[in-house]
Amino acid sequence: MSLLNLKGFHVISQQEHESHLAITVENLFKPQACPHCGFTQLYSHDKTEQVFFDTPMQGKPVVLKTQRVRYKCRSCGKTFREPLADIDDKRLMTTRLKKYIQKRSMSDTFAVVARETGLDEKTIRHVFDDYVDTQSKVMPFETPRVLGIDELKLVGSYRCILTNIEKYSVFDMLPSRKKADVVQHLKFLKNPKNVQIVTMDMWSPYRDAVKQVLPDAVIVIDKFHIVATASKCLEKARKGTRSQLEKKERIKLKNDRFVLLKRRHSLNDEEVIKLQQWSAWFPDLGLAYDAKEAFYCLFDQGLDSKTAEQALMDWQRGLSPQIAHYFEALTTALSNWMPEILNGFDYPVTNAYTESINRYAKDVQRMGRGYSFDVVRAKMLYNAEANMPTTSTIRKKKRKPIEEAPVFYLMLDNLAGSASQKQKYKTEIIEEKRYYGAHIPTLCELLEKGEFD
Ligand SMILES: [Zn+2]
Repeated sequence: MSLLNLKGFHVISQQEHESHLAITVENLFKPQACPHCGFTQLYSHDKTEQVFFDTPMQGKPVVLKTQRVRYKCRSCGKTFREPLADIDDKRLMTTRLKKYIQKRSMSDTFAVVARETGLDEKTIRHVFDDYVDTQSKVMPFETPRVLGIDELKLVGSYRCILTNIEKYSVFDMLPSRKKADVVQHLKFLKNPKNVQIVTMDMWSPYRDAVKQVLPDAVIVIDKFHIVATASKCLEKARKGTRSQLEKKERIKLKNDRFVLLKRRHSLNDEEVIKLQQWSAWFPDLGLAYDAKEAFYCLFDQGLDSKTAEQALMDWQRGLSPQIAHYFEALTTALSNWMPEILNGFDYPVTNAYTESINRYAKDVQRMGRGYSFDVVRAKMLYNAEANMPTTSTIRKKKRKPIEEAPVFYLMLDNLAGSASQKQKYKTEIIEEKRYYGAHIPTLCELLEKGEFD
């Protein structure tokens, strides 16, 4: 019927209500055979009214009402309800409404989609979950060789995000960064043995989880996270100095904090003078700057882990007592995470990626408003454009037996004896897709373009 544009139904009548449109329909296709035994003599057993939701029309939710027939088979005696085309029996809605909800819930909140369709939010969520479930089967992400475990503050809490360092991609996001959640997830990685290296920041639940589930993987602390700690310590020194200042000078120091955070080699002449002035005025600040710089330098020299261990210990010993308390966070990190920090010297796996992830974090933060975590997760992971750069096609040769020979030849073969049992094969090229997750730089571009707003 043209009004509905659903092939399986004929419209009998239509009632417009304040809140929705109700359309009474009749099923056009009658079953030909019993689904249990295939017998073709069926009789109508009873009828019950059923209601299915359909895509909104004229800005109103739509329900389809039909008298659904239950048949009884004359042969096996079993009953069954007539099959309905274009209907999802599990969700009691048309399949096109299901698609509509999936699409809409990617760009609006469940509450809005619920209002639009006349369904409750719980149903919207179920349909959405079905979609995510299907996507995860259509695009099963490969387990990376170098796994990155990071975190983002997203939709109100810290979430653990799993990345493929070599592909610059994110392949999963977990609702929390608790050990139990991470363990649970790592356990279900496809081919967990693929993971050779895991990079993370200094968050012990991650380390515990990885040691438990992937005991052979090398844990590496991202160089970025360690040196960032040194910068934080210098900030502490700046704030410590601040308390000794007059208000005007305090503002000046606040404005100059970028000078302190800069690496020495990137200071311009004016900034060098500023740094010298502050150092002369507050020797502790100068010492703290030097300690920060010395620490950064340790990570720039391409040292091996053995030399690095000595150098880090020397750095710690060389810390002037009057500034040591500012650097406590760093010295504590060194004592808690030394093996993993040293692994970073033997397995340098970081660089440009950390920058992307931070930019990404900020952008996601911005778009996260109004969406549930699951939606943000699905939008990121299964975005088709972001998956393109990481998806590869594997061409495989497959030997396939040639279609079975006609009976005539088979008989001749049998007469000729067992040697002629030889099966003939042909080689076929089969293409298989490999998915590695959403490419982070592409996600960033899309976010900047407002694709997810
Ligand atoms: Zn039957």
